[in-house]
Amino acid sequence: MIRIEQIKMKTSHTKAELKKKVGHILGVSGEEITGMEIIKRSIDARKKPEIYYVYTVDVALSKTKREWSILNRGKNKNISRAEEISYTFSVCTDGNMMEQRPVVVGSGPAGLFCAYLLAKYGYRPILIEQGAPAKERRKAVETFWETGVLDIRTNVQFGEGGAGTFSDGKLNTLVKDPDGRNREVLRIFVEHGAPEEILYESKPHIGTDILIDVVQKIRKSIESYGGECRFYTKMTGIQIQDHNIVGIEIEQHGTHSLLPSQTVVLALGHSARDTFAMLKKSGVFLEAKSFAVGVRVEHLQEQINLSQYGTKQHPDLPAAAYKLTAKAGNGRGVYTFCMCPGGYVVNASSEERRLCVNGMSYHGRAEKNANSAVIVTVTPEDFMGENKDPLSGIAFQRELEERAYRAGKGKIPVQCFGDFCEDKVSTEFGEILPQMKGACTFGDVRGIFPEDIAKAIQEGIQDFEHKIHGFSRNDTVLSGVEARTSSPVRITRDESMQSLGIRGLYPCGEGAGYAGGITSAAMDGIKTAEAIAKQYRPVDHDE
Ligand code: FAD
Repeated sequence: MIRIEQIKMKTSHTKAELKKKVGHILGVSGEEITGMEIIKRSIDARKKPEIYYVYTVDVALSKTKREWSILNRGKNKNISRAEEISYTFSVCTDGNMMEQRPVVVGSGPAGLFCAYLLAKYGYRPILIEQGAPAKERRKAVETFWETGVLDIRTNVQFGEGGAGTFSDGKLNTLVKDPDGRNREVLRIFVEHGAPEEILYESKPHIGTDILIDVVQKIRKSIESYGGECRFYTKMTGIQIQDHNIVGIEIEQHGTHSLLPSQTVVLALGHSARDTFAMLKKSGVFLEAKSFAVGVRVEHLQEQINLSQYGTKQHPDLPAAAYKLTAKAGNGRGVYTFCMCPGGYVVNASSEERRLCVNGMSYHGRAEKNANSAVIVTVTPEDFMGENKDPLSGIAFQRELEERAYRAGKGKIPVQCFGDFCEDKVSTEFGEILPQMKGACTFGDVRGIFPEDIAKAIQEGIQDFEHKIHGFSRNDTVLSGVEARTSSPVRITRDESMQSLGIRGLYPCGEGAGYAGGITSAAMDGIKTAEAIAKQYRPVDHDE
């Protein structure tokens, strides 16, 4: 097959026009093209309002000889042989047999993909999740948004599908992909109901409405391969003998029991604060790590479209996105994160009397506002005292979340940017009205933060005005607090992916500090399944 890169097409083009252009580039007729697969599509808006799609496509011709001659011409640097990296999962054939079923703790993307691969290749994992399955979870989350009554085990952070279920479902990652794991993640998503275009869009996105079905379908696949998924089941302790994991303590509906296993995957996510404390007490090696905190900003989506596309609403293009960085006067880096075009700000709290926010959108990204986190990196130097407690980042997050809860008296505190700069609580909105899941009220958002962080956020937003006109409008709506951007803790692992000094314990995904986002967490889940399969051969279980 031949790969052609940098094919520029008007955004209104048809598939037939793309094929025609491909034929023109290769110098072949339409009949000679027997197959055409889009590998990548991105938007080029550098000359807006003239906007183009830029494609990479793989093409098959009816005659291999013809392909050879085109490739050997070597005139066009955008034409090359198509090389597909196909993902392979190798099962150990000469290692120990796995006597007990592996246990995966956490059903976020890391745990879900780890369990999926283990199940597919015969390891019959038991996946446990403290929260509810997706349908019940959706009800609990909606109840929380409507009434403010929080279920600390089933919420926006916890439950089937993990933290990403109520999200925008952005699937791009900066993680390099020499082994094809990224594509495998996307392929598995598509196999379970995600739209096909995620395989080629440069910024793939699913949307919460589709994701919620997709995670349930992946769970059903795990079960069909012989795995087992237990919800409302929390790991409350771990059992170690002679530096080997021998099992975990679990609690389900108030009943405590032991689950013996020589292989336990910790796919806990970044919000499993009580579980991190339990692991520390049990002697698992943890380290504090940097993360970021800040606010969520809301603008009119039309304004972002105007800036990115040169028009308030483009007939062919999706709601526009952005990604911005700046450096504040005090040297702190400020950047936008988890931008949700046409979406909602959500109350994403998981602890009583503490409040945090995040962003979510549906597949259509059709809501009036664009929202994004504007965050500032904090390092252990910012929050680690003399005692060098690896959990000190969590204490810092909790303090900010308590302030946010107080600032909004339990509701999401909001402040217009003009008032944030003048350090006064807002009394009215301008043109931009908040689009939120969960109640909100005016509050002192600035006061949530230590002053140097608040100042950095202010300067960052002012700097972003140079890139997106209107970004620092006085009526830009700010809410807080964004404190769950990544894990404040690392559960350090060695090159075999096992916890330092504890055989059989596999820290995995975002909570372990080895991923950031849905796709990289899922990729890490796959990598962890591979590491387990390197050690053990599956055995037929006769239960
Ligand atoms: P998680 O998804 O956090 O899953 C961990 C699971 O473990 C949880 O379900 C939890 O209940 C369970 N668990 C924890 N402790 C225990 C225990 N002791 N016993 C049993 N179960 C336990 N990322 C993107 O890439 N794109 C986005 O658009 C995006 N939007 C987001 C929007 C929101 C509202 C949120 C909250 C996050 C968003 N993220 C997004 C981040 C993304 O969801 C996470 O990076 C990702 O889910 C991390 O995956 P994970 O599997 O490592 O952990």
